[in-house]
Amino acid sequence: MSNDKFIPLSVPNIAGNEWKYVKDCLDTGWISSVGSYVTQFEEMVAGFAGAKYGVAAVNGTAALHISLLLSGVKENDYVMLPNLTFVASANSIKYLGADPLLIDADPDLWQMDLDLLEEFLENETDEKNGDLIYIKDGRRIGAIMPVHILGNMCDMDRFLSIVKKYPLPIVEDSTEALGTTYKGKSAGTFSPLACFSFNGNKIISTGGGGVIVTDDEALAKHAKHLTTTAKASPDEYYHDEVGYNYRLVNVLAAIGVGQMELLPSFIKRKKECVAFYKKELTGVADIRFQKELPGVETNGWLFTIQTDKQKELLDHLNRNKILSRRFWMPMNKLPMYKDCVYIQQNDHSDYIYNTCLSIPSSTSITNEELAIVVKEIKEAIG
Ligand SMILES: *Cc1c(COP(=O)(O)O)cnc(C)c1O
Repeated sequence: MSNDKFIPLSVPNIAGNEWKYVKDCLDTGWISSVGSYVTQFEEMVAGFAGAKYGVAAVNGTAALHISLLLSGVKENDYVMLPNLTFVASANSIKYLGADPLLIDADPDLWQMDLDLLEEFLENETDEKNGDLIYIKDGRRIGAIMPVHILGNMCDMDRFLSIVKKYPLPIVEDSTEALGTTYKGKSAGTFSPLACFSFNGNKIISTGGGGVIVTDDEALAKHAKHLTTTAKASPDEYYHDEVGYNYRLVNVLAAIGVGQMELLPSFIKRKKECVAFYKKELTGVADIRFQKELPGVETNGWLFTIQTDKQKELLDHLNRNKILSRRFWMPMNKLPMYKDCVYIQQNDHSDYIYNTCLSIPSSTSITNEELAIVVKEIKEAIG
């Protein structure tokens, strides 16, 4: 086994009817913002997650933006967010003139630390006229956004039991977790509004795209309205609020329909890869894995290992044409979020950032490539 070919981290896998459906759009001229594939894609994603309605958006960030808006988040609010997430989660909060209120990560799960969350809500907030207030500065906390980091989940029963004591709307950032379940219930169905992403490295991709899922018909209609310029009349340019041009076009939705048909086989392949990596890497040097709670079935989106030899390993893999990546830089380290309130005791985010490494996890990866990745990891630090 020699590695002369580059092994990517996580790339789209176009393997089904995508070409056929895209060609259908081009042949019929239905390439733009209206078309049957948009509706079909929305229904497939919602149906797969077990939600009643789906509303497509141009990307996951736009879906989050609209979901927060519909949850009542206003200018100058806080939105509680894990410090360890992709920047899009925080940006969607900022687009509304609100600020992320950052919570550190659990050291084993790498999700929002529920002990910190519970303590914070109990000791540092107050209720005033039905609003949740951060006592220190009197500002309102408008929502909480749990992020299912790497397609894993926290103890959702505990999360919900903590949060439901407060007037605090939840918007799940499920962008990485399509196919993940907690006690048999899909990620994206634990909050009134939740978002998926179909960006290039997600478990399925439309190139770029997102879907909001909800069980609430009124919220679904309003989400559709806001993502389609808030046009309130079918035959006149009458718009009744400030809308957004956040539509997913039919061509991309056509790719999405083809991808959704493949999703079960993708999840199966991701799980095979995770099982292989876990079997082969258990006991190698100081390698640890992200903990999974009983009841959680992850979609295995992006396999990530933890080692104190992160830098050596990263350099070795990248030198050997195996693309591997550190976690996103924690939000409190980015210039635009460095002054945000950050609730932490030991800054686990920083440790996770400095020790974790994601390794190739494409659904198209071959068994031979998986073996090469393992061999090179052992060579570097084993
Ligand atoms: C992918 C992702 C998003 C959304 O990204 P888009 O590229 O806008 O679709 C949001 N949050 C997290 C945690 C993500 O991984």
